[in-house]
Amino acid sequence: MIKVCKFGGTSMADGINIRRVADIVSRDGARRYLVVSAPGKRYSGDVKVTDLLYAAHRELMEKGALGEAFAKAAARFRRIVDELHLDFDIEAALNETAADIVRERSEEFTASRGEYLTGRIMAALLGVPFVDAKDVIRFDGDGRFDPVGYTLIREALKGKRRAVIAGFYGADGDGKIKTFSRGGSDLSGAIVARAVLADVYENWTDVSGFLSCDPHIVRAPVGIPRISYRELRELSYMGANVLHSEAIFPVREADIPIHILNTFRPEDEGTMILPTARYLAEAGRMRTVTGIAGKKNFTVINIEKSLMNTEIGFTYKIMEVLVRHNISFEHLPSGIDTMSLIIDSEFLSHGVLEEVRRDIEKAVLPDRTNIYSDVALIAVVGHGMAKSVGTSARLFAAIANAGVNVRMIDQGSSELNIIVGVDNGDYERTVRAVYEEFFRET
Ligand code: ASP
Repeated sequence: MIKVCKFGGTSMADGINIRRVADIVSRDGARRYLVVSAPGKRYSGDVKVTDLLYAAHRELMEKGALGEAFAKAAARFRRIVDELHLDFDIEAALNETAADIVRERSEEFTASRGEYLTGRIMAALLGVPFVDAKDVIRFDGDGRFDPVGYTLIREALKGKRRAVIAGFYGADGDGKIKTFSRGGSDLSGAIVARAVLADVYENWTDVSGFLSCDPHIVRAPVGIPRISYRELRELSYMGANVLHSEAIFPVREADIPIHILNTFRPEDEGTMILPTARYLAEAGRMRTVTGIAGKKNFTVINIEKSLMNTEIGFTYKIMEVLVRHNISFEHLPSGIDTMSLIIDSEFLSHGVLEEVRRDIEKAVLPDRTNIYSDVALIAVVGHGMAKSVGTSARLFAAIANAGVNVRMIDQGSSELNIIVGVDNGDYERTVRAVYEEFFRET
């Protein structure tokens, strides 16, 4: 059994938390490979070490020397080593890091030093080897992870019972340090898990997994103990983010589950994200609805034209207008003579909406177009919906009983999700009504 464990910024925020991490790791012999983030916030209003390092790079570029921001980051590391009573020459490591940053003058290099130093400290604390991500996480010419890295990781870890790998960065073919986008240690962890074909990728954070609904809207919603990769995609693209959005792909391809766990409540069940087939095989444990997510501020452009269905290339001409304006759409529900484009309103500000409407009218000569703005979308997601009769009747009865007018409905072809569009002003009320219907049932 091999577990790859990634610990996030809060888990690494100070010496006390890092000690907890070491306990969690030593409690289970299968927790062999650790991927760590840089120290995050210790309290609200605190600054993450990575943010201090970005500021340090700006200071270096403006003033030609490292200044206050680097000093603050260095103080965080000194304090951590002190709190851990660790025999680690932090002064030498900081001096060397400062010199490297000044020599490299690269923003990505500077930002990566948070994970680098944290990884070295963690390895010293556990008494295990440190693997520098620059040697194993390879970036290609487009700044994306190069799969050759899987082999490099496997080779570097061969024969190592345990090891610590720094998250967030790697290097290109010339050895130049590159970073993923923010929160990218999740992705590093997923890559390592895939490389060693781990049985599970444990992602340790400061929440006990995913909640079935936004806790700002519904008080104390139930947690989601198990979710499939496909369900997670449907929920996360609507904004329910705990994981970096790219982190699921490496592990999903290799059928490796992700277990979201809480460093501060390690006994909690967390959320297990399972390959879809495995999830479906345990259908007996499935709820009708797994989760509800949503987002405000979409615009619906309704296009009506008689005999639209017989007109070759109708949708193509509309898509061409969207491509020209560099706009992606969320949904495209259609009827025999109607089609609706549902677009994030962010794409349509500053007069773009009017231009798009004009261009669509020119391109397809519709009988009518009309526009609703300020629409919220709510995704109700669960493989269980396909298995139970009457789910949509329950859903729409609950929404109607809440006195909400539905503006749009779209059901995915897999019956995995139903998307409901309502006025922004009805958003919270609708989410609460749907939650009451499907989650207060047991
Ligand atoms: N330290 C990096 C960040 O703050 C990466 C990570 O924590 O995953 O974005």
